[in-house]
Amino acid sequence: MPTQAIRQRVNRRLEELYRRHLLPHDGEVVTYYNSGTGYNKLGQTAGAERSPFAISLMTTDGEVFHAGEHDLPFALQSISKVFVYGLALEACGRDRVLERVGVEPSGDAFNSIVFDERNNRPYNPMVNAGALATTALVEGAEGAHTAGHPLERILAALRRYAGNRGLEVDEGTFEAEIRSADRNRATAYLMRSDGMLAGDVEATLALYLRQCSVRVDCLDLATMAATLANGGANPITGERALARRHVRDVLSVMHTCGMYDFAGQWAYRVGIPAKSGVSGGVMAVVPGKLGIGVFSPGLDAYGNSVRGTAVCEELSERLGLHVFADSDEDALLGP
Ligand code: GLN
Repeated sequence: MPTQAIRQRVNRRLEELYRRHLLPHDGEVVTYYNSGTGYNKLGQTAGAERSPFAISLMTTDGEVFHAGEHDLPFALQSISKVFVYGLALEACGRDRVLERVGVEPSGDAFNSIVFDERNNRPYNPMVNAGALATTALVEGAEGAHTAGHPLERILAALRRYAGNRGLEVDEGTFEAEIRSADRNRATAYLMRSDGMLAGDVEATLALYLRQCSVRVDCLDLATMAATLANGGANPITGERALARRHVRDVLSVMHTCGMYDFAGQWAYRVGIPAKSGVSGGVMAVVPGKLGIGVFSPGLDAYGNSVRGTAVCEELSERLGLHVFADSDEDALLGP
């Protein structure tokens, strides 16, 4: 446990980092903005939508550090793919999951309709097609096909990760998602025609979009990240959200595929497993140490939060977090 003086120093540093990144970034393009309370698709540079910004950190022993508006609600969006992949692994086992979805970076955008044709499966569970496959696995696991049940299972898992019993689907977000789901719907039907998805495509699509629409805040995100950093057990509640043996698989695909077609650059520059969502959340995991949550809706051309990327890069640099860097944990605490 850090002393009061160390805690204050980290808070000051974080506040300074926050203030610096609050300044607008050049080239910022918002293509899509979706908070827990509203929904827009903006094919333009953002104005007011750019301003929400929060950073939350949680260590694996449950220490929390914040800067900015850490309690602003937003939709999990693609970050949900991480947890549903974990659920699929638990429900079906690694081999069965690997039959339905690979672990290969696609090099394509999150909503790409390109598949691993050699193996007749989506490339990985972090792109939409792969998440449709894992959602279908979770939906069909244990033979449970009742409408509410798989969603309850997903919500229960998300609540364990976040240690927040209040996590719910934001119905407004879901309605907007399902109204503009042409591409995901097309992906799902194409997958079914190729034998990659079975069953009721509309039900799978709705379940996928509901999990994307779960409302969280930045503290939830950091807690979920810290749970993964802590081997699958929530550092605050002690509750297990994911069996320890699956944590490695989940973090591996986050590391190689979590930032879409920016994943290689992310691995090179930031060097820690992470996942972004189109509403502006970025969740990053430093195994054994730290969970990072950043929320800022301004997105870059890859659909990743501009500030989320910049903040994680700087944190990684200053804390020596890159997996291949020499560890220099005193960097943030230094003079
Ligand atoms: N709901 C969004 C979609 O399916 C999620 C995408 C994302 O966050 N990158 O397109």
